[in-house]
Amino acid sequence: MSGLEERVGGREWRADVLVIGGGPAGTWAAISAAAQGARVVLADKGYCGASGATAPSGTAVWYVEPDAQKREDAKASRYARGGYLAENDWMDRVLEQTWSNMQTLAEWGYPFPLDSDGQQQRISLQGPEYMRLMRKRVKQAGVRILDQSPALQLLTDSEGRVSGASGFSRQKNHEWKVEAAAVIIATGGCAFLSRALGCNVLTGDGHLMAAEVGADFSGMEFSNAYGLCPAFSSVTKSALYKWAVFYHADGRVMEGAGSAQGRGVIAKALQTEAVYARLDKADATVQAQMRLAQPNFFLSFDRLGIDPFQQLFPVTLRLEGTVRGTGGLRIVDEQCATSVPGLYAAGDAATRELICGAFTGGGSHNAAWALSSGFWAGAGAAQFAQANRLAAAPIYAPRAGRACSMLEV
Ligand SMILES: Cc1cc2nc3c(=O)[nH]c(=O)nc-3n(C[C@H](O)[C@H](O)[C@H](O)COP(=O)(O)OP(=O)(O)OC[C@H]3O[C@@H](n4cnc5c(N)ncnc54)[C@H](O)[C@@H]3O)c2cc1C
Repeated sequence: MSGLEERVGGREWRADVLVIGGGPAGTWAAISAAAQGARVVLADKGYCGASGATAPSGTAVWYVEPDAQKREDAKASRYARGGYLAENDWMDRVLEQTWSNMQTLAEWGYPFPLDSDGQQQRISLQGPEYMRLMRKRVKQAGVRILDQSPALQLLTDSEGRVSGASGFSRQKNHEWKVEAAAVIIATGGCAFLSRALGCNVLTGDGHLMAAEVGADFSGMEFSNAYGLCPAFSSVTKSALYKWAVFYHADGRVMEGAGSAQGRGVIAKALQTEAVYARLDKADATVQAQMRLAQPNFFLSFDRLGIDPFQQLFPVTLRLEGTVRGTGGLRIVDEQCATSVPGLYAAGDAATRELICGAFTGGGSHNAAWALSSGFWAGAGAAQFAQANRLAAAPIYAPRAGRACSMLEV
């Protein structure tokens, strides 16, 4: 395919694939589409590589080596908790694609830590290093990145196919428009006003735009995930509370309270009283490992001079909506097409029921889904674009909400 066509300098382009959102899902999608020969534009609301749920944090990844028993165990681990709603074939696909993409990351130079035998540990990714590398690879793939450029409205052609989007460049203070034969929604989950780390940009824009063109959703009843968090911080890393004991304000242990089991007890108590925690169960070795594994968890403690292993600290629950809940755009084929022609979905914007059922995707599955679904959506959108070239000028999709309000001022 020929190079990207710039129609109005720095404001309008004609491409094959437009990716909306530049987190893990969007960057994998852009690279994958470009690898198929597509001309690709990626628009991000913030700065691609520093925006969204992964970039400021770190994610454990559902990475399981291709050993039949280990893969069966991995699939079984959440199957019952997800109400038996996950699909075996999709879990197999995601495990295999994740294994392959993590291998690719290693080849690109991602600094996986080594274990005592000198083997790379590929079970987690540090957000800043991961997303810096992904941005670099997106640029090397020839993708045009529009930073600080929220998409606000999809475009459709006369047959109802999605054929681009328009938005606003926040730094240049003008509208932009990309006409493209296929669009990938990779705008993350919706955790509106949650104050959880990285969720400030995750306000459901992609969901709204997709709804405006009639896309189906699935699993939205599994969207009310809440993350445990120090009351003075935005870091909703729940894993460390495995070593916590929870307390009432007067120092009595809160019976039944816990992170994995017993979060409901905390939620109920928070209606009427403050809840405190202390990481009592972590010995010196675990304490050191915690600091290495999750350095940003400790930042706010260190700033306030609180030792979470010795002192009680107040906790709260922050809404993480569909960032850790599993609902999102319904996927209709193996390439992550949605129910609307020309529209694809990847990452937290898409439903993760296929691999999580009704249970949360947080803690490993979501990260694996983002890089797998992004990879498939990119290839699928590029192939769709090759088969369905843009013809007449697209039209704006009907407005169902106010995501386009900036265009109206
Ligand atoms: C604190 C925290 C810890 C987590 N830990 C884990 C973990 O250990 N394991 C795990 O599997 N998952 C974890 N998750 C979930 C994981 O981070 C997400 O599943 C993952 O980031 C999804 O990738 P994504 O690309 O779909 O979305 P995101 O990474 O959220 O990226 C979405 C991107 O879309 C952009 N965007 C939004 N709206 C627009 C718009 N209108 N126009 C253009 N761009 C837009 C945003 O700026 C952002 O760059 C965690 C989440 C949080 C909040």
